Amino acid sequence: MKRVCVFTGSSPGARAEYASVATNLGRTLAARGCTLVYGGAKVGLMGVLADSVLEAGGEVVGVLPKGRLAREVAHPELSELRVVDSMHERKAIMAELSDAFVALPGGLGTLEELFEMLTWAQLGLHDKPCGLLNVRGYFDKLLEFLDHVVDERFLTTPHRRMILADPEPLSLLDRMASYRAPAVDKWLDRPSG
Ligand code: AMP
Repeated sequence: MKRVCVFTGSSPGARAEYASVATNLGRTLAARGCTLVYGGAKVGLMGVLADSVLEAGGEVVGVLPKGRLAREVAHPELSELRVVDSMHERKAIMAELSDAFVALPGGLGTLEELFEMLTWAQLGLHDKPCGLLNVRGYFDKLLEFLDHVVDERFLTTPHRRMILADPEPLSLLDRMASYRAPAVDKWLDRPSG
């Protein structure tokens, strides 16, 4: 995994632990020689994460849509800042540049980006690992809900297992590095003929 894309909150969240795990992930990425690809902002956990990679001597590529976001929240010290035309292009470029995807705690933007990468994986459009850094059980209820989605037969078990979750950056990245994508048809209960 040369380049790891991380989705995380543009807010800092309610607990100091979120920032400390973001810092730990940033240092771990830099120590492994992985370039961080992310949304390019200096705010919230996004900023904490980028700062920690840069402070540890690592590389950071930010991808931001042009306009207000780029003017107001762009991180000023990235190794590279790509300014693109739209949010759609931004997500496609972050996906194309990266060998793996990690979600740290975050809100709607984080969840939307994570689920798009999982949806593309489910369709076989890529075979890159997707991991959740499950700080203090932040994602427990989401993971429980996904088990419910499997029980209700809207998601296959192999596709549910694509989602790697771990509280520790190091063990999450190790598990992601040895990930093999499932070879499973997307469709459940497809009528024959
Ligand atoms: P959220 O989790 O809702 O705070 O959104 C964070 C995610 O959405 C990040 O991974 C970004 O790619 C994108 N995003 C949302 N808000 C911003 C912002 N103000 N600046 C840059 N990216 C943002």
